[in-house]
Amino acid sequence: MTKKIAFIGLGNMGNPMAANLVKAGHEVRGFDLLADNLATATENGVTVAESAIKAIEGAAIIITMLPAGKHVLSVYHEIAPKAGSGVLMIDCSTIDVDSAREAHETAARHGLMSVDAPVSGGTGGASAGTLTFMAGGKVEAFAMAEPVLKPMAGRVVHCGDVGAGQAAKICNNMILGISMIGVSEAFVLAEKLGLSHQALFDVASTASGQCWSLTTYCPVPGPVPASPANRNYKPGFAGALMLKDLNLSQEAARSAGASTPLGAHAAELYAQFNEQGGADTDFSGIVNFLRGDAA
Ligand code: NAD
Repeated sequence: MTKKIAFIGLGNMGNPMAANLVKAGHEVRGFDLLADNLATATENGVTVAESAIKAIEGAAIIITMLPAGKHVLSVYHEIAPKAGSGVLMIDCSTIDVDSAREAHETAARHGLMSVDAPVSGGTGGASAGTLTFMAGGKVEAFAMAEPVLKPMAGRVVHCGDVGAGQAAKICNNMILGISMIGVSEAFVLAEKLGLSHQALFDVASTASGQCWSLTTYCPVPGPVPASPANRNYKPGFAGALMLKDLNLSQEAARSAGASTPLGAHAAELYAQFNEQGGADTDFSGIVNFLRGDAA
């Protein structure tokens, strides 16, 4: 069924996501701070508004796709008092769990339903409409959100109550950051031991070292032709975004009192990798940093 949807934050992810909502027949009104992003949105069939407040007029659903927690909270504080009661707010940004909970509280104070629904799948998944959404919120809010997310999604998972989507996202990406370093260290050690990349891959990919960082996203060129290592580490998923997510996992660990020493070390290594030029390259390029090569 056609819905009136407001979409705030039309950047690298937001614009292709909004385009898929338009393709699905929804009426989408969007807002972003950058004129170029608004122009792209117009080309995609989104009706551009002159402010966030204007974008949400008459909308049944409000989606945000913003850089960080402070942006989400600032937009929520601005628009929540103006959205009519019963409206559903869906935040798809990757933000810290504490800000996500505060966003839910802000929505609830104004009689709004809310879901945190960060994504994985990157800009490619956003364009193809195959993102994985990890959703947190009340069962009724999720039931309303799921059909709206479907045109943008390969998979939508309800992870639990408010904040659970953000929790799932940062836990998953902490595994990814740590496992990419583990796989990269193994390749660097293999090189020193005179073992070929392919030989290590052939064994570990079907043995107990098997993991996504090895078999889908192999950090050295050759064994997995589609991995960014084969195109000079063009992202993909940039080092800067990996560090953002690892820092979020460390903030959450401190706030919740969890011990995550490998997550902490992974965050330090990605910070150094980024300082040496890795921030705009794919995060799997950390293999070159570990080997001592330039990014
Ligand atoms: P982006 O910087 O391209 O887009 C964010 C947009 O928000 C920008 O266009 C900016 O102008 C806009 N914005 C900021 N404050 C605003 C405000 N007050 N009102 C309206 N617009 C505002 O970032 P992105 O790559 O689209 O990422 C968005 C979110 O998705 C981030 O939280 C990121 O971590 C997450 N994410 C990104 C990827 C990826 O591969 N790019 C993958 C998964 C998740």
